[in-house]
Amino acid sequence: MTQAQATMNQLSDRINHMQESATIKMSKMSRELKAQGHDIIDLSLGEPDFDTPQYIKDAAKVAIDKGYTKYTPVPGYPELRKAISAKFKRDNNLDYSTDQIVVSTGAKQSIANVVLSLINPGDEVLLPAPYWVSYAAIAELAEGKCVEITSTIDTDFKVTAAQLEKHITPKTKLIIFSSPCNPTGSVYSHAELEAIAGVLKRNPNVFVLCDEIYEYINYTGHRHTSLAEFTEIKEQVITVNGFSKGFAMTGWRLGYIGAPLWIAKACDKMQGQFTSGTCSIAQKAGEAALTSDLAPTYKMVEQFKKRRDLVYGLLKEIPGVKVNLPEGAFYFFPDVSSYFGKSYNGKTLNTPEDISLYLLSEANVAAVSGESFGDKNCIRISYATSEEKLREACKRLRDAFAKLA
Ligand code: PMP
Ligand code: GLU
Repeated sequence: MTQAQATMNQLSDRINHMQESATIKMSKMSRELKAQGHDIIDLSLGEPDFDTPQYIKDAAKVAIDKGYTKYTPVPGYPELRKAISAKFKRDNNLDYSTDQIVVSTGAKQSIANVVLSLINPGDEVLLPAPYWVSYAAIAELAEGKCVEITSTIDTDFKVTAAQLEKHITPKTKLIIFSSPCNPTGSVYSHAELEAIAGVLKRNPNVFVLCDEIYEYINYTGHRHTSLAEFTEIKEQVITVNGFSKGFAMTGWRLGYIGAPLWIAKACDKMQGQFTSGTCSIAQKAGEAALTSDLAPTYKMVEQFKKRRDLVYGLLKEIPGVKVNLPEGAFYFFPDVSSYFGKSYNGKTLNTPEDISLYLLSEANVAAVSGESFGDKNCIRISYATSEEKLREACKRLRDAFAKLA
């Protein structure tokens, strides 16, 4: 037995069965290659390249000086929860009282809190695919059974209400999805969400975790629709949101839920044993973010939209790469399956993982394989970086694909 096998035997089945996050794995690889001197363009991590707006940083500095340095209430400072409650009303026309809101150390923790609070072993968790990598890992940690509902680029990677309904069984407990979506950038319209609300109304034992972390990064020209706005099913919905994307605050670690009171209470209890309340300084910064004008956010969104249009034009020109126009978030999810079976230097590429590793080594461009997002044909490209880098990356991608035969 090797040393690695011996230590694996001592770890729990839980951790041995868990996949490493594909997004984090790829960004780690690209960071290491960069450190070795390789000229990598990293399009792997979904992280705004912009700095956190100044007014938010200033609020954090004031918080330190005013002595916000102690343990915080587990579900967050009352004043932050009040600001979140007002934000839900202002942006989403949702009524969540402060005790229905639980602030966490990032939307990722909020998702874990909810899933671990709701799922019993064997409960089915429906995942409209492609889905964000951590949904499946967290549901499996809770010993839920993930059921994927597939979609393709031809339907803009959206599942229909009818498809969803067909997958519901007496064991279905939870549906998890994001809109705008990571990894596809798709945005469910008001009418599509209304139809999904209809399915939920007919299935009152099914809950939905709606991940709205990309809410502001929406190019449709229409106001973001929250599923919880359909009042007849609001008690079945947990709305997850956070500060990482809309306010460029990935490192601050701040997320939250609005949920039925009994679910919020369960998440509070869970968090009280795992992490306690999140960072006091980040919370004061988050309060400033939500109570100030959103102009800096919309400025960033304008830039993202320009980049989306640029990259769409460039990707469309690469032969064999099938791409759609995403309506939100900052990702493309091109279908590269026409290259499966093609080779370079004697190595045949058969999966999106093969393609992403090839692109990393041959083009020095880091993208994430679709497999961990529940898709076997696509790769994910984040365009949250400068236009200059995006132009160069697309040129490298084009050259690398051209070498495959
Ligand atoms: N949900 C989605 C869809 C995401 O893309 C991310 C990535 N950051 C998260 C949740 C987690 O965000 P946070 O940084 O708030 O943990
Ligand atoms: N959510 C981002 C992504 O999908 C950040 C990485 C992560 O948390 O997985 O790339």
